[in-house]
Amino acid sequence: MNKCYSCGGEIKVIKDKPYHYNECGLDVVLCGITQYACPSCGEEYASIPNIQKLHRLIGAYICQKRKALLKPEEIKFLRKDLHLMAKELATMLGVTVSTVSRWENGKKEIGEAYDRLLRSVYMMYASEQANHMICGGVLNMFKELPAKRKKIEHPKELVLNPQEWLNCLPDCCPT
Ligand SMILES: [Zn+2]
Repeated sequence: MNKCYSCGGEIKVIKDKPYHYNECGLDVVLCGITQYACPSCGEEYASIPNIQKLHRLIGAYICQKRKALLKPEEIKFLRKDLHLMAKELATMLGVTVSTVSRWENGKKEIGEAYDRLLRSVYMMYASEQANHMICGGVLNMFKELPAKRKKIEHPKELVLNPQEWLNCLPDCCPT
């Protein structure tokens, strides 16, 4: 018998009710989730398996949404799922932290270019996490970009020798 973790009373198990997963900040409904309700104290909770994978699925869904720019709550969701503070995301995208705040509180639209950039970063990160590694890590690559760069850079030769693509680090590329 299940006990309420809050009051210790006997708890009711609910199996067939859609669960509104508002905790993620988005309007997401989960089906087939076991929920618990305590008649004595009113406590309610749900048992959600593998929240990390669930978040990755929600994130991918957001990134593949085609018709509209990212909404404030979607930007916030993607940032949090990347485990970034607003300041860190701002640094990565080359904007100020107040710009990120304004995107997230709906005072400013993200705009086409940053929308696409954020989606790309998220999808690359998700891909890395799923072990389809891209060398170096996308978050570090963006974090290390200087805030101001010169507009014109003289092209330099890229010198490669066979070892660099034949003996790629084992954890660096999928086999
Ligand atoms: Zn209770």
